[in-house]
Amino acid sequence: RAKASGRGTFCFFRDEMAQTVEARRVLELDLRQALANEEFEIYYQPLVNLKSGRISTCEALLRWNHPVRGTVSPVDIIPVAEDMGLIVDLGRWILRKACIECMKWPDAVSVAVNFSSQQFHQRDVLSEVRYALDVSGLPARRLEIEITESSLLRNTQWTHDALAQLHAAGCRISLDDFGTGYSSLSYLHNFPLQKVKIDRSFLEGIDTDRPLTLLRGVARLSADLGMTVVVEGIETNEQLELISADGTISEAQGYLFSRPVPATRIRQLLDASHGRRVIEPGANVEAT
Ligand code: C2E
Ligand code: MG
Ligand code: MG
Ligand code: MG
Repeated sequence: RAKASGRGTFCFFRDEMAQTVEARRVLELDLRQALANEEFEIYYQPLVNLKSGRISTCEALLRWNHPVRGTVSPVDIIPVAEDMGLIVDLGRWILRKACIECMKWPDAVSVAVNFSSQQFHQRDVLSEVRYALDVSGLPARRLEIEITESSLLRNTQWTHDALAQLHAAGCRISLDDFGTGYSSLSYLHNFPLQKVKIDRSFLEGIDTDRPLTLLRGVARLSADLGMTVVVEGIETNEQLELISADGTISEAQGYLFSRPVPATRIRQLLDASHGRRVIEPGANVEAT
């Protein structure tokens, strides 16, 4: 069968392509409906301050409760929404909703919102953010904007100015998934960034020496440049101990503390943990 005629093979691929195109068309139609039908929901996942042991921030993570498909991952939604140009509307909805939700949390807790590259590069990104803060009443210091290296590919004056203006407005800019994309260390000092989230791929084989040295090196460099350092994807106590040991890493996020949970659940979690440590500090971390 492998030796089937070229024509047959061609037909097979053409059918598959047609199916893919059709599936994509349906997905796009569904996505357009979803916003109007209120099928989107935001889950929240805590970031824990390793020194205080308390929740400092909760990250907003998109979920789509599709009537037939079930829960759809943001990994499948965001790229399509970007292609469709829907990301601006969707991103605006997420940002406002997350700011409004954060107002229900203790004052010491911030919200982190992911901005896709297209969303960040829209001309009036600053007014989008200002508007979301205005309508929600959220102080800018409680909003953290997560961008990825892809947003920094356009190393232009505009990119610098946008980051500087968002920071001047009082928000923090956080570089998400650091180390996965183009991984230029120069991003860390070339752009005004306040936080760096080291990707969880850095945790692979962390119980052996080399990855740990790499992780600590990147963390030390970022901390020396004045940034708050976060490690994402902490799933075990061993990983927590390893990253807490030298005090360079300020915050951690991962299933060990909590999976992303619905808004009502995060409120309960924040109420229950209010003013209390959710984790005990690592052995060498000074308690405050
Ligand atoms: P991200 O911003 O890096 O978010 C962290 C992802 O890692 C989340 O996946 C989270 O559930 C997952 N995660 C957290 N802790 C652990 C852990 O201990 N182990 C493992 N294996 N995974 C962990 P999620 O919610 O599926 O989101 C995936 C990506 O989709 C996000 O990665 C982000 O890039 C994008 N995304 C999610 N929500 C939004 C949004 O509202 N806007 C935009 N532009 N992108 C979003
Ligand atoms: Mg993120
Ligand atoms: Mg991340
Ligand atoms: Mg990630």
